[in-house]
Amino acid sequence: MAGVWTAEQLRRAGYDGSVVLVGGEAHLPYDRPPLSKEYLTEPGAAAPLLAPEEHYKAQDIELELGVPVADLDLDRQRLTFADGRLLSYDDLVLATGSRARSLACVPPADNVFYLRSLDDATGLRSILQDRPRVVIAGGGFIGLEVAAASRCMGAEVTVVEGADAPLELVVGRHLGECVARLHEAHGVEVVTGETVERVIGDRLVTRVVTSAGRVLDCDALVVGVGAVPADELALAAGVPVEGGVLVDSCCRAGAPHVWAVGDVARLCHPVLGEAVRVEHWDTARRHAAVAAASITGRQEPCTRLPWFWSDQYDVNFQYVGYALRWDELLVRGAPDDMDFTALYLQGGRVRAALSAGRPRDVRAVERIIASGRLVERSVLADPSTDLRRLGRSGDD
Ligand SMILES: Cc1cc2nc3c(=O)[nH]c(=O)nc-3n(C[C@H](O)[C@H](O)[C@H](O)COP(=O)(O)OP(=O)(O)OC[C@H]3O[C@@H](n4cnc5c(N)ncnc54)[C@H](O)[C@@H]3O)c2cc1C
Repeated sequence: MAGVWTAEQLRRAGYDGSVVLVGGEAHLPYDRPPLSKEYLTEPGAAAPLLAPEEHYKAQDIELELGVPVADLDLDRQRLTFADGRLLSYDDLVLATGSRARSLACVPPADNVFYLRSLDDATGLRSILQDRPRVVIAGGGFIGLEVAAASRCMGAEVTVVEGADAPLELVVGRHLGECVARLHEAHGVEVVTGETVERVIGDRLVTRVVTSAGRVLDCDALVVGVGAVPADELALAAGVPVEGGVLVDSCCRAGAPHVWAVGDVARLCHPVLGEAVRVEHWDTARRHAAVAAASITGRQEPCTRLPWFWSDQYDVNFQYVGYALRWDELLVRGAPDDMDFTALYLQGGRVRAALSAGRPRDVRAVERIIASGRLVERSVLADPSTDLRRLGRSGDD
């Protein structure tokens, strides 16, 4: 996605050199968020392509699909494809994304899905037609979205999460427990404090055994235990990598003529004051615009805060900011009714917000975080405080 958008932004910025978009998958580039959501619940839905083939022709963007790049030579400014072909470049944008983290105790099998690619989602979708028993290893956003979609298709679903609550690391235990109750209310079995320890079955996994010895019958196993940056090309070539390709605020990597965008990039964020790698759709778009500007000679640093959404049943979650740790959590509204905004504070300053059903709050909090303002805790906690007005007041 970040690669497609960078190519388009280059054309929009008037770049008139040749633009080649290289993708290891044979499919035309597609959108990933629907893969864990509506693509699973609409059996006849077409692949969520980002654009038809003619669109690329019209923009003079050449597609090289189906063969991955195997090597990057920085000195010769050249890529080598897995089939040996070579491709030279003047400027290179690495948009290799991330890949699903695998579970060592789960060998590949026909009914094990990681849900990173269109092929994974199509495979799971075909099994969901039969109202199967689905076990999901990992109660993160992708695991929970798949749980919701599978329930909508009539599957029996068990989520196995190692922490004390789903999403605990990202949203905290209390809100994670509220999310667990949302799923339980829809008939999902949520098992916490246990991990998937081994599987039984060969070509097909038929049972999953947890660390507590619980045995779960299973027709499909979905592994959603996070993702890792696909940064091995960069690493092997000597481009500085540290949990993703390190880039400055304009997506420029630490090697001449190389940029990195999207999930693979760890960007020095001028507002957050630290280097962050996030796996969000919106970030891929923002990076693309910033990199295209930089390649065409304009320095427009990426200042927007990370933002993402997640849809589970009829609940729309939105999160803005970046808080791996917080020392205070203020919850406004009614989390058990999935109508709330939670504020994550560190050192008295708002660092991030999560909302369910209150998207406008998220935009308001984004302004507060971006302004760096210190807002009285009592004001933030007061349910009568209008966050939107508070967000705007900093603009004066
Ligand atoms: C199931 C799912 C649901 C999601 N839902 C949401 C959501 O609700 N909200 C949200 O904000 N974000 C969501 N995301 C995250 C979002 O989709 C990603 O942040 C986004 O896809 C990142 O774009 P990217 O271009 O950096 O990486 P990708 O989309 O992963 O694209 C990278 C591409 O590079 C290719 N590639 C890798 N290595 C090579 C190589 N050596 N040679 C050639 N090609 C290569 C890969 O095959 C891949 O096609 C979701 C992701 C998934 C998987």
